[in-house]
Amino acid sequence: MTYDIKKKISIIIPSYNEEKNIAFLIEQISKTLNPTGYDYELIFVDDGSKDNTLNEIKFNAELYSNVFYIELSKNFGKDHALKAGIGMAKGDAVITMDADMQHPPQLILKMLKFWENGYDIIYTYRQNANPHAKSYQKATSKLFYKGINMLSDIKLEDGTADFRLMDEKVVKQLKLIDEYEIFFRGIVKWAGYKQMGIPYIPSKRHTGEASYSFFKLVKLAVGSIMAFSARPLYIVTGIGLVFSMMAILYIPYVLVSYFEGYTVSGWASMIATIAFFGGLQLLVLGIIGVYVGKIFMQSKHRPNYIIRSTNLISVNNDLIRV
Ligand code: UDP
Ligand code: MG
Repeated sequence: MTYDIKKKISIIIPSYNEEKNIAFLIEQISKTLNPTGYDYELIFVDDGSKDNTLNEIKFNAELYSNVFYIELSKNFGKDHALKAGIGMAKGDAVITMDADMQHPPQLILKMLKFWENGYDIIYTYRQNANPHAKSYQKATSKLFYKGINMLSDIKLEDGTADFRLMDEKVVKQLKLIDEYEIFFRGIVKWAGYKQMGIPYIPSKRHTGEASYSFFKLVKLAVGSIMAFSARPLYIVTGIGLVFSMMAILYIPYVLVSYFEGYTVSGWASMIATIAFFGGLQLLVLGIIGVYVGKIFMQSKHRPNYIIRSTNLISVNNDLIRV
């Protein structure tokens, strides 16, 4: 394999409570990338960790000249941490990966090869259901990919990961995106370009626990799907239309009952109808409410993240340490 040594690779690693994984990950990435001759930098984004993650990153940033940190002012969530890192990255290619060793560093070599062969985005997806995930995580994950593929205009492979390489020209475009709730797996697929998906087998978390609870996952799933499509609105409009037609057909029955004097009977069917339509209306209102909420949040134009401190600064398009 021949590598262009002049090219720089920025690796963005969002980290939330990963104190015991930082040093190990740096070691593993170095082992993988040092022999290639690429110039590379590791940008850790501390997403408001409650443990010693930030100090651990700072310690390594002192030790290695190619390790950088961005400290966010609180926990903003992984996608926003990714955006913070991508916003600062200056590499010819940018790689995003998890801090917990579930994304095998070895795969980076494969990504670089495809990149050198002209691909702009090399993304990864889990080959099988993650053998290390809890069963509720597997279930929500499956449901999520089914949902997003059915309801939105992008197609994501089952188990698409935030482990990917993007060419600088893609990153340049991503930096311009100003969405309140950014969902990178979707945005990257949506962006187009020459894409290549490669499967991988996720490793076990090096240490610690995955930080997404069931409710956080459901919220993320619903939010991401609705961020990518207005289709649920059309679907509920359709349902509303069908039921209105059925209600019109119901009128002759109501009239006949009235003239024949059966008006008191039919209580059960009336209650059932009211309950059903009441529920349906609440559901539809809820869906519309979520979209209105998104418009509300977007209209405030708040930043996706706030940086509390960093040892990165960009001068003449080069990152330097401060
Ligand atoms: N992460 C983050 N902010 C969060 C939650 C997670 O930056 O609020 C990071 C975490 O440190 C890890 C990656 O995102 O590097 C994936 O998180 P995790 O392993 O908890 O989730 P998984 O996708 O493996 O279930
Ligand atoms: Mg993980």
